[in-house]
Amino acid sequence: MEVRISGTHFPLETLGPGQRLGIWFQGCALACPGCMSRHTWAPEGGTTEEVSGLLRMWEEALGRGADGGARGGGGPPHQP
Ligand code: SF4
Repeated sequence: MEVRISGTHFPLETLGPGQRLGIWFQGCALACPGCMSRHTWAPEGGTTEEVSGLLRMWEEALGRGADGGARGGGGPPHQP
């Protein structure tokens, strides 16, 4: 199964405690006022990634000492 992502980053140290794997999804139809992630709104932007690829990223981050994960958007609920 594929999902559309805007980007990933590790280590992310600003969106929660410790070092986290950050995953930003691509595509959001909510258009919240004041959204700071407007570059993630376009549903055809970003890149596609297999869920298995994201799981491999997670395992690699854990191996490098990840304390947790952070997901943002884009709207993760828009993904399958
Ligand atoms: S990316 Fe987040 S803040 Fe921005 S419009 Fe979508 S749900 Fe709202």
